[in-house]
Amino acid sequence: MKRKVILGGIFGLLLLVAFGWNSLADGKQQKADVDLRQPHQVGNVLLEAGKYLIVHEEHVAGQEGQACTFFYHPPRQMEKNAVARFHCRGTEGEPASKFTMRTFRQPDGKVLLRSIQFAGSSEIHALEPAS
Ligand SMILES: [Zn+2]
Repeated sequence: MKRKVILGGIFGLLLLVAFGWNSLADGKQQKADVDLRQPHQVGNVLLEAGKYLIVHEEHVAGQEGQACTFFYHPPRQMEKNAVARFHCRGTEGEPASKFTMRTFRQPDGKVLLRSIQFAGSSEIHALEPAS
């Protein structure tokens, strides 16, 4: 868990965001508090700069494609605070010592959010907009 993970240069640009993340509660939900310093785009969804509570719900077998990753206005995780929802494809990677977002900066300056990874987890969640 304590291993230092070096991820530099994977997608050209890598931002590490870690602001007092919450530790994993019951294993079914993973949460992190983030503070985006600039807008991030996931597909056609734009996340404005600001603070978010990110919650990932455990995948339900046979329901791939369902939203599993939710961005809320902090501090409360409530339906009415939901800003955006995504589904993800999980891949195994190196364990992350802190909450990690992998991003890619386009030539026009737009920042694309590719994936998130929670502290202490080796699963990388590649995000896609959920319908
Ligand atoms: Zn997921």
